[in-house]
Amino acid sequence: MTILSNFDFHCHTKASDGGFTPSKIVERAYQRGLNYLAITDHDLVAGVAEAMATAAHYNELLAQGSEQAPEENYVYANAQINKVENGILERSAQERLLTIIPGIEFSTTWRNEQIHIVGLFIDIENKELNELTAHKKELRLARAIAMGRKLEALGFERPYERCVEQAQAGANITRGNYARLIYQDGKANSIDEAFHKYLRRGQKAYVPNDWGPISEVVAAIKAAGGIAVLAHPRRYKISNFRLRTLIEEFISCGGEAMEVAGCQQKPNDKLYLAELCQRYNLLASLGSDFHNEGLFRNLGQNLDLPENLPVVWSAPCAQRFGLNQDIKQRLIHITYQKSLSAE
Ligand code: AMP
Ligand code: MN
Ligand code: MN
Ligand code: MN
Repeated sequence: MTILSNFDFHCHTKASDGGFTPSKIVERAYQRGLNYLAITDHDLVAGVAEAMATAAHYNELLAQGSEQAPEENYVYANAQINKVENGILERSAQERLLTIIPGIEFSTTWRNEQIHIVGLFIDIENKELNELTAHKKELRLARAIAMGRKLEALGFERPYERCVEQAQAGANITRGNYARLIYQDGKANSIDEAFHKYLRRGQKAYVPNDWGPISEVVAAIKAAGGIAVLAHPRRYKISNFRLRTLIEEFISCGGEAMEVAGCQQKPNDKLYLAELCQRYNLLASLGSDFHNEGLFRNLGQNLDLPENLPVVWSAPCAQRFGLNQDIKQRLIHITYQKSLSAE
């Protein structure tokens, strides 16, 4: 069974290491039945405006009842829908309107770990925010070029240039972009293997970096009127004790929320994060971290938040986007079966 949420507060576009343009992500969001989608690219907000404009256009088509309005589409290439519980798939146009939440995913360095902090409900024109993203862009550019040189020495052709060509103009090139290139060149059998063989700490194309402190990004997110969210807390290779220390420091910097529900997550992890969320009085967020077409990660997928947790959209800054604590997640349960034609 797959659980689909109409909220997803973490995804990437071609403005960083995502595989789709902001418009394509938005199109997909309508197909997946989302009502609230945050665009959270790495250290920049360049994809947000296009996503908002596209959603405004499609919302208008929906309001007009136009035939060009996007449709819901939950069908997979190799599977058929067997059963739908907790709701219907085809909703009225009014129920399918999509709100884009302006967001960002900042990289920071904390005790030698790369910790990601998502900012939600931010003003993308804010001066302090843009000064910080400009600074981060310089750090990312230098590192991307250094990694490109290493890959070139390992036999890859024009690696940096080709990553730039595949991404949106002005994009931040991350290790995610290089992983895709390595995979495309047939030098790894998966994105994960590309990281293991080349990009992880200690591997041949790895370039050490210091992204700067958590306090700096939280301050910029707050200056931009947003809320800071500790991203995917279970993905860091740190002990539970260290994770609690991280959360305490994050809170002392002004952090107010953390991601509790992710797409590919062990049930126990979600329960543990829910417990931490309550213990530390943080607001709960949710996000697929969708980058690209893949089997296990998709917009809205398995993002059910445990009940009774205070949600991130109850924060005052969410009101500007029509959200408040009374708005509940829509969670439909779909059971698929492998389609006969695919066999
Ligand atoms: P960077 O911030 O440049 O170090 O790149 C980090 C990005 O690489 C993350 O946001 C992920 O998108 C991606 N990434 C990191 N580790 C892995 C992995 N093992 N498999 C797939 N993607 C990864
Ligand atoms: Mn990424
Ligand atoms: Mn991340
Ligand atoms: Mn991410």
